[in-house]
Amino acid sequence: MPDETRPVTGLREWLRRLADSGRLSVARPGTPLVYRLAALAKRLDGRQATVFPEPDGHPIPVISGLVSSRAWIAEAMGVPESRVLECYEAAAEAPVPWREVSDAPVQAEVHREVDLTRQLPVPTHNEHDSGPYITAGLLLARNPRTGVQNVSINRCQISGPDRIGVLILPRHAHAFYQMAEAAEAPLEVAVVVGVDPMTLLASQAIVPIDHDELEIAGALRGEPLETVKCVTNEVRVPAAAEIVIEGRLLPQVREPEGPFGEFPQYYGPRDDRHVIQVDALTHRYAPLFHTIVGGGLEHLWLGAIPREATLLGHLQRSFPGVADVHLPVGGVCRYHLVVQLDKRQEGEAKNVIMGAFAGHYDIKQVVVVDRDVDIHDPDQVQWAIATRFQADRDLVVIPEAQGSKLDPSARNGISAKMGVDATVALAADPFEFTRIRVPDEDKVDPDAQLDPDGLNWLRRKLGE
Ligand code: MN
Repeated sequence: MPDETRPVTGLREWLRRLADSGRLSVARPGTPLVYRLAALAKRLDGRQATVFPEPDGHPIPVISGLVSSRAWIAEAMGVPESRVLECYEAAAEAPVPWREVSDAPVQAEVHREVDLTRQLPVPTHNEHDSGPYITAGLLLARNPRTGVQNVSINRCQISGPDRIGVLILPRHAHAFYQMAEAAEAPLEVAVVVGVDPMTLLASQAIVPIDHDELEIAGALRGEPLETVKCVTNEVRVPAAAEIVIEGRLLPQVREPEGPFGEFPQYYGPRDDRHVIQVDALTHRYAPLFHTIVGGGLEHLWLGAIPREATLLGHLQRSFPGVADVHLPVGGVCRYHLVVQLDKRQEGEAKNVIMGAFAGHYDIKQVVVVDRDVDIHDPDQVQWAIATRFQADRDLVVIPEAQGSKLDPSARNGISAKMGVDATVALAADPFEFTRIRVPDEDKVDPDAQLDPDGLNWLRRKLGE
């Protein structure tokens, strides 16, 4: 019986847990890497993880769908679902430094002659993707000035045997790259594939640039993450990972990358983007290759939970009345935020809206509701807007702000922001906003009160 109060600290431990509880399926050997693998993984996404032995005959199995629901993420964290955000935020607030080791499973085999097209089973997911992509690769980079590392997940196009085209949106890895490029130097990086669920979750934290997400992984795991120095550069990578690609982001080099199917359910377009020159490939004996199907539930939930947790912490530091936040699937788990507020001052909801926009540039729409609204139920949120919001008084629109470059309605990332204050005015007549309720509706027991012979009585009454 697995210990439900302890976080899962190993990828293989998590796969065993899923397999033992009917939440993992194994495909017949030989699934084609182009489309067919993603098709099956997506069909089972959210219900079962999938393992693909010998994809296209390749000796390395592909795995997918590891953390594709809120309940699974809670279980992997070792906490009840109601405490996921609180526990994640506590970890983000109290990072645990990693511990460097010299002997690591991920360096059991070292290849300095690299041909990614041959050595790794990289699938092609969506119809118009430019080709095979590494989608579950953690991009680790070091701040060239301070040495503090950053972790993010970036889509990685296999552009050649030892060349990767990578989309780096303007956050922390991008800032490190700009520092290196200003000095005409490459930025040393590693792309890490196949990590434990806590490290995967930690990679998506929204924390300041000088916070190392691997230290949040340590806090989530309840023990320091073991790391090892790359064999060709100074980047430290999780020692128990399955596969590491070591390389350099080249200064002044841009090459075509994309299109690629992304979380908004559209293609990120083709453009000239950053390039990683690969220097080495290291992996475990008999490694596993993790792939996240673009736009699938694993992609969405992995983005949602860490963002919700760190945005909640960010808002609560300024607004103690903020009780909960949610990034609904309909808002692609990135763009639309719902905030539950215990409002104490009139106007406070609008300050919360502005604070949320400042929390991450992806946030495009914020709806603030009162404590009685279930923010995880889209119908309840819609009801609050329908009955507590007036556009001339409660709407905030900020034109021409920074938004998501992956939102096709934005103009290359220039986006309007919309805030909706759907809270009841503090001075409102309480009866006007009293929700209708039938007394004891929730307590009544239909089985006890319904008459099994009642239909016979009705037929007699109606005169057959
Ligand atoms: Mn960061």
